[in-house]
Amino acid sequence: MLDKIRKIIDSIKLNEPMSKHTSFGIGGPADVFAVAEDEESLKRLTQILEDNGIDYFLLGGGTNILVNDKGIRGVAIRLGRGFEKVERVENGLAVGAAAKLVKVVDKAQREGLSGLEFASGIPGTTGGALMVNASAFGHLIRPLARRIRRLKGSKIILEAELELRREDPSVIVSKMREYFEYKRETQPLFLKSAGCVFRNPPNRFAGQLIQEAGLKGERVGGAYVSFKHANFIINRGDAKATDVLNLMELIQEKVKGLFGILLEPEINIIGETFP
Ligand SMILES: Cc1cc2nc3c(=O)[nH]c(=O)nc-3n(C[C@H](O)[C@H](O)[C@H](O)COP(=O)(O)OP(=O)(O)OC[C@H]3O[C@@H](n4cnc5c(N)ncnc54)[C@H](O)[C@@H]3O)c2cc1C
Repeated sequence: MLDKIRKIIDSIKLNEPMSKHTSFGIGGPADVFAVAEDEESLKRLTQILEDNGIDYFLLGGGTNILVNDKGIRGVAIRLGRGFEKVERVENGLAVGAAAKLVKVVDKAQREGLSGLEFASGIPGTTGGALMVNASAFGHLIRPLARRIRRLKGSKIILEAELELRREDPSVIVSKMREYFEYKRETQPLFLKSAGCVFRNPPNRFAGQLIQEAGLKGERVGGAYVSFKHANFIINRGDAKATDVLNLMELIQEKVKGLFGILLEPEINIIGETFP
């Protein structure tokens, strides 16, 4: 099987720690880690894996996932260079799924195209952002996509066209700065995390509930609740996925007990929930 994969994919690694590929810096090994450089190799790779009943997981920037300590059975696939285009088209941008969202936001600003300012400072890829419908300040990314092209018969996003409107680049840049400054002041952007851990329940903010429950700074093993934003869990450096999961459970129980609200995870938990 590996020989077959090697014929299609130049870059494969065995037992690759996912902690190297996630913003959390957490996660056990993927049996196989493969970078698909273009659509043809992605198509052939997924076909072989499906024909042989081997599981695979499509990794974006790894900024919204928690990978279990046991890692990923099967193949973790990342999209390579052939998926990184960011091109001007009429009324918008044509963007490859592996293009970093910050690069897309930057290109939009330089082209005088408005609509993506809210995404300033959201890490990860455009494919990942479209998949999870990344949002900030009441704006969502998916409504901007006038077309999303997926790998045939699969959920894998290959590219998208984002519809944006003309605006003075200096107006766009000042909006971007405003959003980014706010994010920088209120979120621990430069520590190891996966963004907001829980979804906001109707009419409430998850972070506020966690803060009101007195859980800022609460720690399990190497994972703790951020002092800056209570909906962020931080890996202080040596956290295991189980530490994060146990801390999440502790938060859920405390918030449920105090406010009768069950917080639902926003981060994607990959692998078994508990070993
Ligand atoms: C400091 C920090 C701040 C953040 N701020 C925000 C914020 O303001 N708003 C917000 O919404 N999020 C935020 N996040 C979370 C995260 O950055 C976003 O959700 C981001 O859009 C996820 O993209 P990714 O490429 O990293 O996806 P990944 O984490 O790699 O993957 C997420 C999911 O998408 C799937 N996926 C990825 N690429 C594709 C593809 N091409 N086709 C099909 N499925 C795919 C994966 O399989 C997985 O299920 C933040 C994270 C951090 C660390």
